Amino acid sequence: MSSFARILIDRSEGRELDYSIPENLRVGVSVGDRVVVMVRNRRAVGTILALLTHSSVPGIKPIECLVGGETSLPPVMMKLADWMADYYCAPIASVMRTMLPPMLRGEKITGKKVRMARLLKKPSAEDLDSLGKGAPKQRAILELIGKSGVPLAVPEILRVCNASDSSLKALVRGGWLGVTEERVVGFSGDGEEVLPSRIPSLNPDQERVVQELHEAIGALEGGGDAPLPFLLHGVTGSGKTEVYLRALARVLKSGKSALVLVPEIALTPQTVERFRSRFEHEENGGARVAVLHSHLTDAERREEWMRLQRGEARIAIGARSAVFAPLKDLGIIIVDEEHENTYKQEETPRYHARDVAVMRGRLEGCPVILGSATPSVESYRNVKSGKYRLLELPRRADGQIMPLIRVVDLRLQGKRAKVEGGLSAPLQMGITKRLELSQQTILFLNRRGFSTAMLCQQCGHVCRCPNCSLSLTLHRADNRLACHLCGHAAKPPTRCPECKDPGIQHAGIGTQRVEESVRKFFPSARIARMDADTMTRKGSYAEVLGKFRARQIDILIGTQMIAKGLDFPNVTLVGIINADIGLHSPDFRAGERTFQLLTQVAGRAGRGETEGEVIVQTFSPASPSIQHARHHDYAGFYDQEISFREAFRHPPFTRMLLVQVRGVSQEKASFAADSLAKIFREKASDSIEVSEAAPAPLERAHGQYRFHVTLKSTSGAALGKLSREVTAAIKLPAGVIMTLDVDPYSMM
Ligand code: ADP
Ligand code: ZN
Repeated sequence: MSSFARILIDRSEGRELDYSIPENLRVGVSVGDRVVVMVRNRRAVGTILALLTHSSVPGIKPIECLVGGETSLPPVMMKLADWMADYYCAPIASVMRTMLPPMLRGEKITGKKVRMARLLKKPSAEDLDSLGKGAPKQRAILELIGKSGVPLAVPEILRVCNASDSSLKALVRGGWLGVTEERVVGFSGDGEEVLPSRIPSLNPDQERVVQELHEAIGALEGGGDAPLPFLLHGVTGSGKTEVYLRALARVLKSGKSALVLVPEIALTPQTVERFRSRFEHEENGGARVAVLHSHLTDAERREEWMRLQRGEARIAIGARSAVFAPLKDLGIIIVDEEHENTYKQEETPRYHARDVAVMRGRLEGCPVILGSATPSVESYRNVKSGKYRLLELPRRADGQIMPLIRVVDLRLQGKRAKVEGGLSAPLQMGITKRLELSQQTILFLNRRGFSTAMLCQQCGHVCRCPNCSLSLTLHRADNRLACHLCGHAAKPPTRCPECKDPGIQHAGIGTQRVEESVRKFFPSARIARMDADTMTRKGSYAEVLGKFRARQIDILIGTQMIAKGLDFPNVTLVGIINADIGLHSPDFRAGERTFQLLTQVAGRAGRGETEGEVIVQTFSPASPSIQHARHHDYAGFYDQEISFREAFRHPPFTRMLLVQVRGVSQEKASFAADSLAKIFREKASDSIEVSEAAPAPLERAHGQYRFHVTLKSTSGAALGKLSREVTAAIKLPAGVIMTLDVDPYSMM
């Protein structure tokens, strides 16, 4: 039996300390349990990482007590933590810290407290009758709580039953009720009436897909193995959500729980409402929904967490970190918009929630559904290689045809007339027509990344790396074009290498500029802008969308914020100001992102009765990403993209590891990056490619100079082994920081 435990202390930066396990706890404790220990002379909370039979620590102190079973990590989650630490080359402490919400990590609780009453034993009809004779108020209270099925706030109970505290106290004395002080949450809608939603009948495509899912779930219940992950490829508006709802219903009926991941941006009250109205009502099974998103206060997050832990809520909906939600007896995991980059965490541990979800599904032995209108190349390749199973919804659920996509060639436009403030003549005409018809327009500007590619305004030529075929980034500081992936450098041309025009430059235009020109061209139109700069106030996002839905706004201008999941029937025109910005970002996924973005944005047009139109402005009208998006041709896009990836040995044909070295001193950071690249190269086996150290596209951020070394290998295991070896062997100079990013998404 283990007498000692290694404990990760919450407050510390990953400090692991050994403690002895007191006699009375030895039978009960297990890895993942939360305990209270003394660190120096203060109490601290920590997690048991391992049980030990020996410890050589002199004067070892005992564990004080358990924190209570509710917060411990179950074995599956401990296994998941181990896998993540290994796969993402991250310290286990950072993984565990990511898994638990801050509130559970022993920090101060600040939320409002409320007394909650819950039923301790169920009264029979006779019990109620006999109570009702002498104490009708007590009977009313019992009935109310019995009906609700969940604990209710005491003030609310007393108000509804018009009762006094003494009636409640009598019930507590009688052993019927327990009263505890708890934190309250706002977002998931306490006390809000949820109306049951009407369940639509499925169309034949949905029928086929749901059938297949139900069969897989049934086979699993019958003792079979967990099915392969499903990739649900359904065009925008094909009714994927209804498919999720049906799969969920099947799982909930057998008493299990469900996890639904959505990108943060899609986590609107409307999304949550669709799930709540389907399941929370008694007649639909009464399964409660817990919502986990980044706008919750720590106290709210903790409360949602505890509701899941206690089994009060059986459905968790949330963004990235909800993949760690403490669901009991998990029956299904759904990852909506699986291609979304927001699933990737950009700080240690740099995990991708979709991939963690697939791993969790495997460990839990439950089905996983990844859904998207534009599946990631990685996931689609997993279908092709037999790792995932494909489900398809090729048509819009409402029977609408896909919107017409027109490509406007900005090279020609520029010759004829100046494209003022980003609006070409066809786009201006399109907007005018919509204003006349009282229909709405969305103008979309993809500002992601940096518009630092060299682009010829005449022929659309873009300077690319001969080794990687990525667009080269202009570094203004030393007037150099560089490939940040392999380190290739060149002098920026003064004339276009293709058409010899001196007009080659880096051009960019912001949403603010677009707004200005729209106001100038359409002075009487009602216009709103939606981007990170204008959406700073909490609630402003919902406010603008509400106004737009109510048709109080004619033209909505925005960044990727408006690209996803929005459904406005009166929007008949979507204008894409410049499709090239994303296309020429120095990233091997640039083409994929552009295709995804155009397809998703186009999906916002023509959701209602009238057909939609999309106008795409570009200097590269022949680009495959644009052409395939235009023809709604995912298969065509995938085929060309996958051969590009294969030819240049980019993921998913290789596993990539991005090493970033940064420091305030450019010299030190640069030198460290060079030495690091050298050490990696010396120790690397033949299967691993190591790049030269190169300045990051975003050369300097937060006062630090940044350098990248990129590693690629067909063997993820070899890459992991190498990075562990090197990180253990090197000592970086003071003031220089190194981070490892496995499967990087941000190459900046
Ligand atoms: P997706 O997530 O695939 O883009 P949604 O789930 O948002 O699509 O569905 C698009 C629209 O079609 C929604 O308004 C939804 O209510 C409607 N819808 C979905 N399935 C059906 C159905 N079987 N019958 C009628 N309408 C449906
Ligand atoms: Zn290169």
